[in-house]
Amino acid sequence: MSYQNFSREQMQAMDAAHHLHPFTDHADLRAAGSRIITRADGPYVYDALGNEILDAMAGLWCVNAGYGRKELVDAATAQLEELPYYNSFFRCTTPTPALLADRLARIAPDHINQVFFGSSGSEANDTALRLVRHYWALEGRPEKNIVISRDWAYHGSTIAATSLGGMAAMHEQLYGAVPNIRHVMCPYAFELAEPGESDRDFGLRAAKAVEDAIVEAGPDNVAAFIGEPIQGAGGVKIPPASYWPEIQRICDRYDVLLMLDEVITGYGRTGEWFAAQSMDIAPDTITTAKGLTSGYQPLSALLVGDRIAKTLVDKGGEFYHGYTYSGHPVACAVALANLEIIEREGLIDRVREDTGPYLGEALTAGIGDHPLVGEVRTFGLLAGIEIVKDRDTRARFEPEGHAASVVRDHAIEGGLMMRAVMDTMILSPPLIWTRETIDTAVDRIRAALDKAAKDLR
Ligand SMILES: *Cc1c(COP(=O)(O)O)cnc(C)c1O
Repeated sequence: MSYQNFSREQMQAMDAAHHLHPFTDHADLRAAGSRIITRADGPYVYDALGNEILDAMAGLWCVNAGYGRKELVDAATAQLEELPYYNSFFRCTTPTPALLADRLARIAPDHINQVFFGSSGSEANDTALRLVRHYWALEGRPEKNIVISRDWAYHGSTIAATSLGGMAAMHEQLYGAVPNIRHVMCPYAFELAEPGESDRDFGLRAAKAVEDAIVEAGPDNVAAFIGEPIQGAGGVKIPPASYWPEIQRICDRYDVLLMLDEVITGYGRTGEWFAAQSMDIAPDTITTAKGLTSGYQPLSALLVGDRIAKTLVDKGGEFYHGYTYSGHPVACAVALANLEIIEREGLIDRVREDTGPYLGEALTAGIGDHPLVGEVRTFGLLAGIEIVKDRDTRARFEPEGHAASVVRDHAIEGGLMMRAVMDTMILSPPLIWTRETIDTAVDRIRAALDKAAKDLR
């Protein structure tokens, strides 16, 4: 049955009556009606009214190769026809997860050679949490169990992933977090640096918060530190260059495992396959999902470093954990084709050498001096724009979060899909964006800011 037989109003009515949405105020949604996206091509999505919208969020940080990739459709179709599903439990496998695991081991940092598949970033982080605690138990140190995370972290939405995350509003609705997870300050200089404190010093101070937490808990009780290389859903918070090397030093010093959540940063967004390579650090686990299939299929891959994998294999016996769709053959087929596109088209080099730096320059030149803009920051194809009432004092508009949502609404109206997190505007476009696409986006952001400035004053 085709949706074409239904009017937009009919679909909105069905949606409002029966569809509970993720991260949505349902009363709001029902009053306003949902925006129905019906198709997409290249960097654009199209809604049911026929509007063409440049998608500066790559869906939800995932459509790295852009929309309308026939190759990915063909890979899925061929696999569906040959073998739509078989599991990877009980000593079985199928060809595509085997090939994909091998491929991932080759693009991952040298000391990472094993992969555990799931269907989402949340699941992969659940696996990662089990695995690091299991590792220490197998090493005869079960008391080494606490995980240090950070405020504003986003690690997904299952109970374990929410517990790992540092979103206050999500914790309020958790009604019982997974125990032994502690949160420290995040490296968010725009709000947390002291007046006159250098970027470098602030980065070291934010890393010191992790060290202090380890010392306070007792290093013998701390299993791991988990962090996104760049905090995504928390508002594209980019740490100073001093932060990650210092975190690595601290983890090494106290023998604390380093868990990197690269669900957003993985597969090219920072100008390397993984941000671990951009930041030159050596994590014990790397959580990946989103860009792995460019969102064409749900798939996550937890990359597991040799240290943990060796213990699991040599001492672990059976690992009582896995998902029906771990290593789903269709999702893995799409991932293989997607990695092939990223490689063949040189998308990662393009981000590192060309579009990444250009995004920073173009945003700074185009809106850096706008009266509503307190800061523009970018890394690869990730950008955060701070919306302020006063550029000098960095005072915000009231109530918190309102101003950025006004900018966002004008942006979408003007043909640019972007998101607002509190008072930060964020961009995470497909890696296929060119300088031209970036120029168009910057023009539309500037127009949205001008309109918002009128509304807000
Ligand atoms: C999106 C995201 C997740 C969760 O992934 P899901 O597929 O939505 O479960 C985890 N970590 C980070 C950094 C993310 O951005």
